Amino acid sequence: TEMEAELYDRSQEIQRKNRRLEEMAELARRESRNKDQFLAMLGHELRNPMAAISTATYVLKDARDQQAPNERLDWGLDIIERQLKHLSRLVNDLLDVARINEGRIELQREPVQINEIVRGALEIARPLINKRNQSLDIFLSDEPATVIGDTTRLTQVVSNLLNNASKYTPKGGHIAVGAGVENGLLFVEVTDNGKGIDAELLPHVFDMFRQAEVSIDRSQGGLGLGLTLVKKLVEMHDGTVQASSEGEGRGSRFVVHLPLASEASTPLDKTAGDE
Ligand code: ADP
Repeated sequence: TEMEAELYDRSQEIQRKNRRLEEMAELARRESRNKDQFLAMLGHELRNPMAAISTATYVLKDARDQQAPNERLDWGLDIIERQLKHLSRLVNDLLDVARINEGRIELQREPVQINEIVRGALEIARPLINKRNQSLDIFLSDEPATVIGDTTRLTQVVSNLLNNASKYTPKGGHIAVGAGVENGLLFVEVTDNGKGIDAELLPHVFDMFRQAEVSIDRSQGGLGLGLTLVKKLVEMHDGTVQASSEGEGRGSRFVVHLPLASEASTPLDKTAGDE
């Protein structure tokens, strides 16, 4: 009958709503689990450098008491310096993510050449690439290609990608970086022939909380904030970033696309518009 039909419809709807509620609860549970995992990871990441600093301090005191040669003092001081740098990088990344999430990061926008960004990023990443004896190919655009963006932040984006390419590629491996214009968009591409990214992790590499969930190798250390920042900073510039990999051991490829500065937004026009 009609009434039975209506009752049936209603019960269907209630079931649908229940299912939806259950899904949401599961999502919330997973999110909170991910955050817990992230906090645990954060604890580990902070503890390692602290332990190293604590050992070095002990050795330094001992060396002082024994009036040991300078080499032993240098050894301890080097460790402390290196570990403090590592800690400050972690803390800066954490603060950056927090600031971006709260919308508290202001971009200093200006017209900047994409080649200049790549060169700046190479300056930062080259010591690691050299240390790991990796070969490096650089393909820059012949024509001027300008983006309206924050030079420091965009350099941070590309240097994070280059540092990762080096970190996750064996010694003696190969890294390439290219930049130019493609289909009316600016692009920067970083490829390596390193360990590649597992198909399971690939969709989550940019998500700091999801990463903790998927089994990933943290032997290289790190909080998984690098790519989170890359994505957020690129999006603040109205750009996109994609990761791809042929799979484990077959290298990775990261491509950033950014809007090309249009004629209308060149600095001259801008001042004219501001008048
Ligand atoms: P972190 O390096 O601190 O773990 P990132 O956010 O920079 O954090 O990277 C997240 C994860 O993505 C890494 O732990 C690693 O598993 C993977 N990854 C990033 N870049 C590469 C790359 N070039 N090759 C292989 N894996 C990568």
